[in-house]
Amino acid sequence: MGKPAYREIERWSPNNHGRGGAKVTNFFLHTQEGDGTAESLAGYLQNPASQVSYHYTVDNSGVVCDVVDTDMCSWSVLDANPISINLCFAGSRASWTRQQWLDRMGRGIEIAAWLAVQDCKKYGFSTNVIAPPYKRGPGISDHRYVTKVLGMGSHTDVGDGFPWDVFAGHVNGTNPNPNPGGFLMALNDDQQKTILTAAERINGVVRSRKLPVGQSDPVAYPHGGAAVLDAADGAFIVGKIDGLKASIDALTAAIKAGK
Ligand SMILES: [Zn+2]
Repeated sequence: MGKPAYREIERWSPNNHGRGGAKVTNFFLHTQEGDGTAESLAGYLQNPASQVSYHYTVDNSGVVCDVVDTDMCSWSVLDANPISINLCFAGSRASWTRQQWLDRMGRGIEIAAWLAVQDCKKYGFSTNVIAPPYKRGPGISDHRYVTKVLGMGSHTDVGDGFPWDVFAGHVNGTNPNPNPGGFLMALNDDQQKTILTAAERINGVVRSRKLPVGQSDPVAYPHGGAAVLDAADGAFIVGKIDGLKASIDALTAAIKAGK
């Protein structure tokens, strides 16, 4: 799969401890059972009193918070913490239907798949997606696997509606449209505003060079039409477009670098 666009933010939590030499063999997905964002959920996990954490929180706006270093245990799945990396979909619920998952977390699912594959490679375990009814082994699964297969605890997230086929398609790189969000979806509000402002400026330049209806200036506009641009107009606009292109290139580079 290609790397989806997302913005990674560090929100380290004290709720972690060493792996004690255990080898990481599984990546587990979780729901929040609340209405948070990646950042607000990370804020909660940063509170020592919460006594819970995940390595990552992800939301559908394309934000990823790094909460616990993957070399350490997060506090997510009881005695399975030492062998696992854990990711929580912020704002999600285990009661969601398939359609709710696709509508509300489609982008987050793609990002989670990417992060899971990167960690499977980094820690040397299979990218096998272990969906219900589950088969014991290394790979990517969810909290209910811990309950049903490992016999620890009682949590049932990510729930029956989770689109495992779509998630596995991202993991295996077989989905038809790997990046439904597109370029602009990757930008935050400020970045979108920058592009919009630049576009409006260029548009303003063109309009300010047009004469009022019914007037003409044969000297400045020898072709007679107010909408016809002269060489100076052209050079000015080309300069503005070049500046805009440089801004977009810089933003694209920043996004690719995961900033
Ligand atoms: Zn869970």
